Amino acid sequence: MKTSLPWQTPLWDGLIARVRTGNFPHALLFTGSVGYGKSVLAEALIHGLLCQFPADSGTACGQCQSCRLLAAGTHPDLMWLEPEEAGKAIPVDRIRATSTFFALKGQYGGRQIVFINPAEAMNRHAANSLLKTLEEPTEDALLILISSQPSLLLPTIRSRCQQVVFPRPEAQLSEAWLQAQLSEVKESATIKNLLALSNGAPLAAQALHETGGLAVRHDLASQWVEVAEGRADPLACAKQWSELGLPKATRWLSSWVMDLIRLKSGADPVVITNGDLRPQLLKLVTGLELKRLFAYLEQITETARWANGQLNAQLAMEDLMVSWSRQHIGLK
Ligand SMILES: [Zn+2]
Repeated sequence: MKTSLPWQTPLWDGLIARVRTGNFPHALLFTGSVGYGKSVLAEALIHGLLCQFPADSGTACGQCQSCRLLAAGTHPDLMWLEPEEAGKAIPVDRIRATSTFFALKGQYGGRQIVFINPAEAMNRHAANSLLKTLEEPTEDALLILISSQPSLLLPTIRSRCQQVVFPRPEAQLSEAWLQAQLSEVKESATIKNLLALSNGAPLAAQALHETGGLAVRHDLASQWVEVAEGRADPLACAKQWSELGLPKATRWLSSWVMDLIRLKSGADPVVITNGDLRPQLLKLVTGLELKRLFAYLEQITETARWANGQLNAQLAMEDLMVSWSRQHIGLK
């Protein structure tokens, strides 16, 4: 049975109240940072809406025929559109198929739902094709779009959806939830650290832990320092970074560079986001120039803009690492 997450109660209650009053839009755009649980809430909502006997809270029963089809991934009134691989585009013909899907009546007499995650994985053709569906929705149609970078969407797509902004989860609820997920982690300091490194996003913190994130992060950080010092090959380093996927790689890099900028420009002691990497970052500070750091940050941001689907991860990381190897003025 799918439910929303503890910090999402106000959002959930608000959406269910609108379902009750019949004041529910045909298109929703869920926005907020990666790891806030946008798609978890969307899935719980979809199950609740398609369930034949939902609870008073709006949660699906988990047992009716609809719920069984949902669990099997074969509910005929739900279209689930995600890229085949993270970072790839959603093919335009899959988006086009949504108009045929909505043109046929729903098989269970309820809503017909299309879920698109992440919405920025639609290229311009795909987005234009979706616009037609958004302009003339059928009565039972519901589109749910997920995006952590809504600025990348066509303004016409954004304006036709009701936006639901996911706020940063409350720290106390995040910590309690993460601790319950990671029962093997005994120290609450580790839980707090994982959350801090994930900008307070509980699911990102969980993923960081489960992918051996802290160890991988420290390896990558050491290697990144060595590239700056001319002791490691930027191309070899780029290969490892590209395995993280561009969205995550660019998030990490920009966070580290921002910390370098803080260290470079601030008075001591400077508060930084990546406290665990302070020794590595401090090693670099004297050899770097603020102006060039800002230019590098801009290059990372530009790469991040196109991180979904449209860039070759390996080549993009090579560009970033080669630029990085030219940053350091003190050591070479
Ligand atoms: Zn049910």
